[in-house]
Amino acid sequence: MTGRASLSLSPGLPDTIMELVNQALTGNRRALARLISQIENDGALVAQALAEIFARTGRARVIGVTGAPGTGKSTLVSEIAKAYRRTGQTVGIVAVDPTSPFSGGAILGDRIRMRDLAGDPGVFIRSMATRGSLGGLARATADVTKILDAAGYDIILIETVGAGQSEVDIARTADTTIVVEAPGLGDEVQAIKAGILEIADVFVVNKADREGAANTVRALEAMLDLGTAPRATQSAHHGVTINVEPVSRNSESEPAWRPPILQTVALEGKGIDRVIEAITRHQQHLANGEGEVRRRARLAAELEVILRETLLRRLMAGLAPTDVTAMVDRIFKRELDPYTAAQQLLAQQA
Ligand code: GDP
Repeated sequence: MTGRASLSLSPGLPDTIMELVNQALTGNRRALARLISQIENDGALVAQALAEIFARTGRARVIGVTGAPGTGKSTLVSEIAKAYRRTGQTVGIVAVDPTSPFSGGAILGDRIRMRDLAGDPGVFIRSMATRGSLGGLARATADVTKILDAAGYDIILIETVGAGQSEVDIARTADTTIVVEAPGLGDEVQAIKAGILEIADVFVVNKADREGAANTVRALEAMLDLGTAPRATQSAHHGVTINVEPVSRNSESEPAWRPPILQTVALEGKGIDRVIEAITRHQQHLANGEGEVRRRARLAAELEVILRETLLRRLMAGLAPTDVTAMVDRIFKRELDPYTAAQQLLAQQA
């Protein structure tokens, strides 16, 4: 791994976790894998471990790759990874797709193609367990990304199935999000159904060797021409949210980013160079101000989630479970409305 300065960890952490963090950050892959497992299993220690490494994060370029199952995301991700490896950059891959070969759900042929990546010491592949809530998975993915970032990986690729809001939330972890489409998956462009159009920075129409690729490109072009919603930078929550003061940006001199639509044949490694080039151009665009806006919005959303959880946990700790049950009972009987019930619970706790 790239050699970053050694750490001085706070003595507050138990030896095992401290050791694990230390080893993981100095390039010990087994320690890295074990630390990630700890994160998936959650626990207060992990929050401490993340507090230790946070100052070392924010350096990696994070690229999300999302799309419907079968569009060729995994194939594309491995080709993108190989392209970065050729330039000497190290690559971390986080697969959140349960059908992905990276997460073990694939036919043999795919696994064979992954082998040249798996044997490369400059590549670290991790699949995320899908057990538990998807919301928790988004958090865990963001945490794993931080660890890979702190461990010095230059590029982090996050692969998700574009199937709903949770995947959209996962994609928000990325600086640049690639939405993968493929011809022949039905007449509709999959992105519309999945609601992931707004997060696309780059469109890739993969399987361009197949009939219908040009139609898919045209459908996407038409959609972009309609001037659809700008990329969301805020948390998806409705109701109360943390508002970040906009940082000054030279929006007049900076033309809006129009997601390019590229065609690839990932299976043959065709068109990958242009994808890399589009990613680079997008990251240059972000460097002109929008990147900071996005990163701030992402941090605000993250802070908000943590605040919600912490406040709720604190509140629940001060209440007897029977109080809550009794309150639900009264709401059920229509003696109380949920708003008043919430107020009363808050008052009890105080
Ligand atoms: P994912 O489910 O989106 O991750 O898709 P995969 O990468 O697993 O690919 C799904 C299938 O499409 C596999 O059998 C791949 O070999 C195949 N595939 C991937 N890229 C291409 C391509 O460019 N052209 C063709 N014809 N098939 C491809």
